[in-house]
Amino acid sequence: TAYGFREVGAGEKQGLVNEVFHKVAGRYDLMNDLMSGGLHRLWKDAMVTWLNPPKQPGWRVLDVAGGTGDIAFRMIEASGRNGHATVLDINGSMLGVGEERAQKRGLADNIDFVEANAEELPFEDRSFDAYTIAFGIRNVPRIEKALEEAYRVLKPGGRFLCLEFSEVQMPLLDKAYEAWSFNAIPRIGEMVAGEGEPYRYLVESIARFPNQQNFAAMIRKAGFDRVTWRDYSGGIAALHSGWKL
Ligand code: SAM
Repeated sequence: TAYGFREVGAGEKQGLVNEVFHKVAGRYDLMNDLMSGGLHRLWKDAMVTWLNPPKQPGWRVLDVAGGTGDIAFRMIEASGRNGHATVLDINGSMLGVGEERAQKRGLADNIDFVEANAEELPFEDRSFDAYTIAFGIRNVPRIEKALEEAYRVLKPGGRFLCLEFSEVQMPLLDKAYEAWSFNAIPRIGEMVAGEGEPYRYLVESIARFPNQQNFAAMIRKAGFDRVTWRDYSGGIAALHSGWKL
């Protein structure tokens, strides 16, 4: 690859990803703040603002790769605690941290936690009003499968939103960002989580992920309509939106 990393197969990739999040689950929220300089909070808030969860009871959202619950908590609060969120993640350690946080915040009735793979969702067709995934799809070995599953479980009229690291659109910022991710992030990983290698792998996965246009094309291919995106922080992150019409 461009950065001298070897290619890994789907099974091996999932194994590496699982190892990272299993190790870091307890410190995941702290890591996010350190590695993004707190920016992930602004991006996540922007995602929930764009979704604009309705305040009526009965609204159901599926948050895939939901980890420790960050997106779900925001959506439920934005719905005036009326909505219901299902947080799905392949990693039980991340979900465990999320469940504890939900209890503490008094949100246990609004949120359930499901251990499963984004490529094979254990839900019936047309089950949800919205599907969200934040900093998760990049980790899924077969992105096309995850997108097809997103389309399948949404109700007609349902909304798809995906927040992910993307291609920096500003000269100079891209160089600074590259230096930050390839040097600082693995070092922070070493200091806080005791290991740098898994973070090198995650940074590489950002470099490999399709840019804004190409990812929009993949979302369209899965069946979604009115696919658009917004860049955040010069394209360090992008938020893609689509509708199942
Ligand atoms: N959405 C949360 C957030 O924004 O804070 C967590 C994002 S975290 C960077 C990525 C998550 O994706 C991890 O919790 C990991 O376990 C999960 N994940 C990785 N591969 C997955 C898969 N195939 N299906 C479901 N979740 C997966």
